[in-house]
Amino acid sequence: MARTTLVIGLDGADWSLLNPLMEDGAMPTLKAFVASGVSATLESIRPTNSMSAWTSLMTGTNPGKHGVYDFVRKTDTPFKTTVTNSSVIGFPTIWETLTAAGRSSCVIDMPPLYPPFEINGAMIGGMGAVTSFDRSYTCPAELAGEVENAVGEFLPDVAWVGKAGQQEELLEEWIALVDNRRKVAEYLLGKQAWDLFFAVFVAPDRVQHVFWQELTERGPLYSKVRRFYEKLDEAIARLIERVDTTESDVLLVSDHGFRTFHDTFDVNQVLAEAGLLKWQDVEPMAAGVLRKAGRIVKPLAGRLEQVIQRRYPAQRELLEDSVAYSDLSESVHLNLAGRESTGSVSPGEVESVRELVTSKLLEFRDPQNGQPVIKEVLDGGDYFHGAHDGDAPDLLLECHDGYAHNNGLGRVMFRWTYCQGVHSMNGIIAGLGPSFRQSANASTVSILDVTPTLLALQGLGAPDGTDGRIAEELLEQTPQPAEQPVAVSERTGEATPYTEEEEEAVRERLRGLGYIE
Ligand SMILES: [Zn+2]
Repeated sequence: MARTTLVIGLDGADWSLLNPLMEDGAMPTLKAFVASGVSATLESIRPTNSMSAWTSLMTGTNPGKHGVYDFVRKTDTPFKTTVTNSSVIGFPTIWETLTAAGRSSCVIDMPPLYPPFEINGAMIGGMGAVTSFDRSYTCPAELAGEVENAVGEFLPDVAWVGKAGQQEELLEEWIALVDNRRKVAEYLLGKQAWDLFFAVFVAPDRVQHVFWQELTERGPLYSKVRRFYEKLDEAIARLIERVDTTESDVLLVSDHGFRTFHDTFDVNQVLAEAGLLKWQDVEPMAAGVLRKAGRIVKPLAGRLEQVIQRRYPAQRELLEDSVAYSDLSESVHLNLAGRESTGSVSPGEVESVRELVTSKLLEFRDPQNGQPVIKEVLDGGDYFHGAHDGDAPDLLLECHDGYAHNNGLGRVMFRWTYCQGVHSMNGIIAGLGPSFRQSANASTVSILDVTPTLLALQGLGAPDGTDGRIAEELLEQTPQPAEQPVAVSERTGEATPYTEEEEEAVRERLRGLGYIE
């Protein structure tokens, strides 16, 4: 009989923050967990955003196979992205593999899983979840009503962009969000049988974007922010109390870590100033008509201008003599003939253009102090392979400490005064229970290894094509050779787009979370 596994996902958790918090007495549950179990650094994936990272974690594949590169997706037309949703995922997730093998799972608030889809068990939320939509944020749909009866409202994620000066109120909202998801998880833990239970807390990521330096450099708000981690630790304790760790395994994982951040740059502006990108802003015809009406009926002009800004903003168009642009995080695409609608770089020119763009990006200096900003420009071809690698970034950017990439256009270098941290490649993984080694530190584990390892704990082999391997360094015993890989019906990654209204609501949420412009 396979053991059950409880996984607690901590979005953005990083040992460089958690170790000092444990030493400071803020996280006694985690401290005891690490002391008696096994822990390691979890190497994340590029681009290092929650969508690509969690999808890699729950499929065991690189983004070239699962097709999720960011919160938005590139289209054939530069500067016209669409919002990513769960239909995009192009490789079977662990929940589908478990379902095919007759096992059951519960998953709560896994960021890429909205809209939820049918599995053997229950799926709730996902970061795109906007509870006011017609479609349910749970699968099965009726579970939403049950959860709300049991715990009250399913709280939405908390936007923080544009809320400078409200940091303390935000902290209270994030504590409430942790409390809410903990209650949802406790309700489901008690309600139904499961083989794999996976509850994600996204709030640590939000807190660390706003308070990273307060936390790591012990700024004036440290003791207030510390309270968030005390509450998070309590939530972890409450969930672990629900399982018998002599019989069940518990795994803590994050999707990426964090690093200090002070300045950001618009990579499209850097490309434009290097002569590699040209664009124009085209106003929709409706905007011109409304503006004309405003000139005739002057009292209405202000209102009409608001309508124009909201409904008919100018559309940015890449011009054909551009060679590169950026639509996704940490990434640059070449303006490739036959792929981009404006494409002009021929296949024979790709290598020389890639070298040119790389050298121009590496030459870029912070205008304030003359320091280099981009540490490395990596070839996307080395990182992405699979059925969805046609959309893969051609170049990946790695910044020097303190800097991060933005894919806007207009500002070279600017500062977000209330954003102190951005993602890094160093996440966490820690296990406790009969399958895991005791009182041990293990070497770095890849995020791609989580799914094959969780499947091995169930005595199951990962689907053919999985990139990760079983992280034996975490385990007490090498698992018995698994049964045949589970035959899971293929996912096409054929995107079912949101309705226009949903698309705008999700975009608004992502702007509030700092993930898109
Ligand atoms: Zn994340």
